[in-house]
Amino acid sequence: MGAVYLDWNATAKVRPEAVEAATLAMQSVGNPSSIHAAGRAARATVEAAREAVAALVGVKAGSITFLSGGTEASNLAVESAVLAGCDRIIVGATEHEAVTESAKFSGLPVETCPVDGEGLADLAWLAEALKAGGRPLVCLMLANNETGVIHPMAEASALVREAGGWLHVDAVQAAGKMAVNFNALGADTMALSAHKLGGPQGIGALAAGPRATLSRRMQGGGQERGRRSGTENVPGIAGFGAAAKASLSGLETLAAQAAWRDAVATRLGNKARVLGAGAPRLPQTLCLSAPDFASDIQVMNLDLAGVMISAGAACSSGKVKASHVAQAMGHDDLAPFVIRVSGGWETTEQDWRRFGDVWLEAEARHAARRQKVA
Ligand code: PLP
Repeated sequence: MGAVYLDWNATAKVRPEAVEAATLAMQSVGNPSSIHAAGRAARATVEAAREAVAALVGVKAGSITFLSGGTEASNLAVESAVLAGCDRIIVGATEHEAVTESAKFSGLPVETCPVDGEGLADLAWLAEALKAGGRPLVCLMLANNETGVIHPMAEASALVREAGGWLHVDAVQAAGKMAVNFNALGADTMALSAHKLGGPQGIGALAAGPRATLSRRMQGGGQERGRRSGTENVPGIAGFGAAAKASLSGLETLAAQAAWRDAVATRLGNKARVLGAGAPRLPQTLCLSAPDFASDIQVMNLDLAGVMISAGAACSSGKVKASHVAQAMGHDDLAPFVIRVSGGWETTEQDWRRFGDVWLEAEARHAARRQKVA
C-alpha cells in the first residue's frame, strides 16, 4: 500500500496546474521590468497571476504585493502598521510565530487576546481592551493551523474599526480551503502563502486595503510598486496564480472532506479528544489529543505504517513542543499529546479511513504496553 500524506497544513502537494505554469515561466526568458517583448511577456505572467490571487480573496489586483511567503507578509503588515502610527499591538493567543515574533520585534507593547476552550477569540475581552485607546494593530488569524478553527472575523473587525485600529488577518491556512472575502471580513491587511494551497514554496502575498499604507520592505530597484524590491520570482508567482485559480474552483470538493474527517473522529470515539470540535473549522483539518500518547510517538508510529501527519506544533528544528494552541485553549493536560491530521486537494476518503485504521492499531499497541508497565 502506498504512503498516505495527511500533513497538507504543513505544505500541500503542488497542483498540476501550478507545476505547468511555473515550468512554462522557467522555460521563458524575461525580466518583468524589461521593456522588450520577453520582458513584457514576463510582466503579463506576473499580472495574470496577481489577478488570480486577488480573485481568491475578492480584492482588486492592485491590492496584492508578492513576496516570499506568509511569514514575510505578516512581517510587512506589522512593520507597516507600526510606521503608520499604531502604538500598541493585540495578537490572538493562537497566532503563528510569523505574527507573534513580528509583534515582539516591533518594540511596541503587545497584549494577547485570549481564546475560549474551542479556540475562538474572546471578543468581550477584545472589546474591553480596545477601550484603552491609542491606535491598535490587531492581529487575528482567519483559520488556525493546528485546529482549523475559524475566528469570528467580521465581528472582530467591527470592534477594531470602531476603535480606529488596523486589522491584520493571517489567512495563510484559510485561503484556498474556504471562501475568503477581504472586504466582508473587514481586513486592512491579509497574509497569503502559495504552498498551503497547492502552489510552490517560497512565494506569498500581502493583500492591503485602502486604509493600509505599506512600508518599503526592501531597499533596491522598487519592484512591486516600491513595496518589495528585487526581481520578481516569476515561476513562483505563476505557480501561485495557477494554484489560486484551481483552489477557488475546488472549494466545494474540499468541503466534502469534513464528512470523511468527522467519520474518522467518530470511529476513534473516546480514545481521542477533538480540539475545536464545537467551533466552525476548516473542512480538512482534524486536531486530536489522546491521553498519555505523546505527540511525537504517535507521529513516529504512523510514519512507520506509511501515514504522514504532524505533531500539533513542530518547530523548524524538527523537534516537537507541547502545542501552544491547546495550552491557549486552556487544555494544558492535552497539549503534549496533540496531533494534526490535514488533507488537501488530492486526499481521498480512503486516505482518511487508512489514518483511522493505522491510528487505532498504534493506540492499541501503546495501551497494551502501558498496561504491561503498570
Ligand atoms: N501563518 C500560518 C497560520 C501558517 O500556518 C504558516 C505556515 O506554517 C505561516 C503563517 C508561514 O507561512 P510561510 O511558510 O509561507 O512563511
